[in-house]
Amino acid sequence: MELSDRLDAVRAGVSAAAVEAGRDPAEITTIVVTKFHPASLVRELVALGVRDFGENRHQEAQAKAAELSDLDLRWHFVGQLQTNKARQVRQYAHAVHSVDRASLATALGGEGELDVFIQLNLTDDPGRGGAQPETIEALTEHVLATPGLRLRGLMAVAPLEADPRRAFATVREHSQRVRALAPEASDLSMGMSGDYREAILEGATHLRIGSAITGNRPARG
Ligand SMILES: *Cc1c(COP(=O)(O)O)cnc(C)c1O
Repeated sequence: MELSDRLDAVRAGVSAAAVEAGRDPAEITTIVVTKFHPASLVRELVALGVRDFGENRHQEAQAKAAELSDLDLRWHFVGQLQTNKARQVRQYAHAVHSVDRASLATALGGEGELDVFIQLNLTDDPGRGGAQPETIEALTEHVLATPGLRLRGLMAVAPLEADPRRAFATVREHSQRVRALAPEASDLSMGMSGDYREAILEGATHLRIGSAITGNRPARG
């Protein structure tokens, strides 16, 4: 299969899942995660109508954003982020999906609006990234009080060992706690190549899809 075939297949799958959920496919943003892939692949995807791209490492994202600065793209930062890189990420990112602590939110603040999602950790392993659910209210209030951040909602990765549908239902439930403090922060960034249907059925508004569209990732050099 070629890139355009894989993209078409995912677009069809997203539409089918939206119909199954009784939702309008137009309210779902598909972010193509291009980590490990060259800027040339991003250009090919732009020619096929993609505008939202995801990356999980600052150095790689920064280099691609610079190389593709002639294009009108939206870069979504989806990986774990060190506080000391936050200011640089802000310079090219449209959204950061991985805000999991107050110090990172503070560091991301600044002039102009940056979209942010609070990442939830659905495991007991702090190394997986994301905030533990009990910290949601405090973190939501902190983001709301930080100038230059626009809170969009919650982000999560379904744990490998879990039933994705149940994991995403849990995120949707926690999202009510965010919306109690910030009614407009109702977006849900969840669903990847293997589980985007389940995510759409549970209300995902932002899918982060890599390999199902890009093909296998080249080994990291
Ligand atoms: C790599 C990555 C994705 C995409 O994963 P695929 O399984 O290739 O679709 C989504 N979200 C995050 C946070 C990632 O790091």
